[in-house]
Amino acid sequence: MNQNKWSGECCIICEEIKEEGIHLYTSFICMECERDMVSTETNEISYSYYVTKLRKVTSSQIPS
Ligand SMILES: [Zn+2]
Repeated sequence: MNQNKWSGECCIICEEIKEEGIHLYTSFICMECERDMVSTETNEISYSYYVTKLRKVTSSQIPS
């Protein structure tokens, strides 16, 4: 394992380290979760799960 170059980031949805993904605000969403979010348009339960996760992200930027 070569750990000299760290290219992964922790996905806020699955909480795993992934190399490919998108940045939402200051957070990282991996490619698989991003794809899941897009494909869960008709699945309200999954969708609200993501919305909750994302809300946590946006609200965590405000110092309490
Ligand atoms: Zn993920």
